[in-house]
Amino acid sequence: DPAIIPVKTHGITRDMLSRGAERVCEDLERSGYRAYVVGGAVRDLLLNRDPKDFDIATNATPEQVRRCCRRSRIIGRRFQIVHVMVGQELIEVTTFRALHEDASATDEHGRVLRDNTFGSQSDDAARRDFTVNALYYDPYDETIHDYHHGYADLKQRTLRMIGDPQVRYREDPVRMLRAVRLGAKLGLNLDPATRRPIREMADLLDNVPPARLFDEMLKLLTCGDALACLRRLRDEGLHHGVLPLLDVILEQPLGERFVEQALTNTDERIREGKSISPGFLFAALLWHEVLAYWNKRKAKGEIAIPALFAAMDDALDRQAEKLAITKRLVGDIKEIWSLQPRFEQRSGKRPYALLSHPRFRAGYDFMLLRAQTGEIDSELGDWWTKFHDADDAVQEALIAGAP
Ligand code: ATP
Ligand code: MG
Repeated sequence: DPAIIPVKTHGITRDMLSRGAERVCEDLERSGYRAYVVGGAVRDLLLNRDPKDFDIATNATPEQVRRCCRRSRIIGRRFQIVHVMVGQELIEVTTFRALHEDASATDEHGRVLRDNTFGSQSDDAARRDFTVNALYYDPYDETIHDYHHGYADLKQRTLRMIGDPQVRYREDPVRMLRAVRLGAKLGLNLDPATRRPIREMADLLDNVPPARLFDEMLKLLTCGDALACLRRLRDEGLHHGVLPLLDVILEQPLGERFVEQALTNTDERIREGKSISPGFLFAALLWHEVLAYWNKRKAKGEIAIPALFAAMDDALDRQAEKLAITKRLVGDIKEIWSLQPRFEQRSGKRPYALLSHPRFRAGYDFMLLRAQTGEIDSELGDWWTKFHDADDAVQEALIAGAP
């Protein structure tokens, strides 16, 4: 049985939920089902942080949810969930589920391939990753149902895996990345038993589908504490051949300043609530790889610009095996890189053409980052900064005076 924590203890009142979360729970409860806010939202509210989104768990089946909630639809994927729109807000509703008992649902390393059986609320709590992620908030009476002592763990700032950490990492190796990310982002310490196996089990990340790894890395890099996350990944031994991307980030002596600056800028923007471009970020993370491949090709006598394009593919191909960077993003990344040589060309009409390129801004910001970190002369950055917001006469003078 779960511990039932009353509102006078935990302090989370109904009005702290989003309108959508409150509404969906009401609709379900009016039809006789049970509905709880669960996962990251409860955890974040208890930590006085703004939840990113609200997830609902219920004993209603997806079909029943769809009938109770207007503007809802069932999403296929691995497990059926229901998306409900309330105004602009998207609420994800999941039916309580359990882990498969039979071994055919796992691969030879113990990784879970299917988890699509309905279960009780206590089954649902047991299949979640960390104790602090298995708290269920009932808006109806404002209680929290706590099956795994997550409330006490949260108060003690501890991130603890539910069950046997080794088994849980084998079921889903991505949990190792989640442990590091949530620990760094929320300022929680990893419980020793949760932490210890990570180093030796890191290789299991090899068996995770590249698309899933990409999703998780993107989450990590855009959580607002990417630098802290990456340092923790290094401390836990989650690099060295685990993910080529991490080796690139954590072990390139030449690119270190560049990558750190890019991540610092990204973290700052995210904390200020500004948007960031994943294409820009990945372009930055891989840039010094591209430079290394480019230099190798030029040393072999290849022509500069074709060699750059080939080097771009070299760097991206090296990632592709483990990490499925989406096609759209690859397009953005290549565009930023391919604009770089054009900043060197400052005669005739060329600077004007570059200025009116639809992706000028991204290419320019990227070039500034290169100048800031000493890869290229700061004179070039200053020149473009003057050029891009000058009037016609000044622009002409700048072109005439360019080295
Ligand atoms: P955030 O959204 O802030 O990154 P979160 O904990 O809400 O953190 P989600 O990916 O939104 O993370 O997942 C929602 C909930 O689903 C989690 O709180 C956890 O209970 C459960 N969950 C997510 N991923 C896993 C996993 N790999 N294994 C077990 N449970 C998971
Ligand atoms: Mg979430």
